Amino acid sequence: MTESIERAARILKDSERAFVFTGAGVSTESGIPDFRSPGGVWSKYRMITYQEFLADNEARKEQWALHRDMYEGFKDCRPNAAHYGIAKLYEKGAVEAVVTQNIDSLHQEAGVSDEDVIELHGNEKKVKCLDCSRLYGREDIQRQLLDGTEVPLCPECGGIMKTTTIWFGEQLPKNAIDRSFELASSCECCMVVGSSLQVYPAALIPEQAVRSGAKLIVINRDPTPLDEHAEEVIGGKAGEALKKLAELF
Ligand code: NAD
Ligand code: ZN
Repeated sequence: MTESIERAARILKDSERAFVFTGAGVSTESGIPDFRSPGGVWSKYRMITYQEFLADNEARKEQWALHRDMYEGFKDCRPNAAHYGIAKLYEKGAVEAVVTQNIDSLHQEAGVSDEDVIELHGNEKKVKCLDCSRLYGREDIQRQLLDGTEVPLCPECGGIMKTTTIWFGEQLPKNAIDRSFELASSCECCMVVGSSLQVYPAALIPEQAVRSGAKLIVINRDPTPLDEHAEEVIGGKAGEALKKLAELF
């Protein structure tokens, strides 16, 4: 692994502009469960679209139960060595932004500035009123859910609320998509960490980077469809790899 990490460090140092692209695998070492594996929330609850949630109070109850359980699974999780390694690369100017599919805020908690964490799938730690657009912290809402409230309503206007995560049937945020494609089209290096690169449209971003001639580094436990285009593929645990990589900066 050491030589591969040294080569990855060299690619980053030789690139004037670079960005990181992350997925669920960067957070597994923080203890955040994979939502799709057996026993995860997706095997317990059915998938509900945003449109169903808007139309039907029973769907709202189910969706809030899913998000209550999901949040219980990760509200106390802390960043791991992979998040801290990426944050160090960011502080040193080796990468300029982190495009993430994750909804857990752990890149920000590790020290990457909020404006440079581009969240493709939103964030589970805030709740928004769909009528008046007020934003609320998640802790109060979670307490209500745990106390038995099935569908929390906006304390100010009584409107329907949702987490700021992007749900099935919702568009990905345009500003996040635009900025990600701008990075993918102009950066000289894209470093993927902990993503299967099989979830679309997010996976189009590293694909675009490859098409635009960026050098690709893949740090992922399992093979990905873009490995054949990568300059460097590093298997194993992201925490260990990022810790070693960050030590070279
Ligand atoms: P994925 O589950 O499709 O792929 C995760 C990849 O990470 C796998 O290929 C696996 O080999 C790798 N991996 C797991 N643990 C690793 C480790 N310790 N070190 C290195 N690699 C490791 O994840 P995805 O590509 O992000 O897509 C899943 C979807 O689910 C996304 O849409 C994401 O938003 C969502 N999700 C988010 C979280 C979170 O916010 N933490 C958690 C689960 C799922
Ligand atoms: Zn409101």
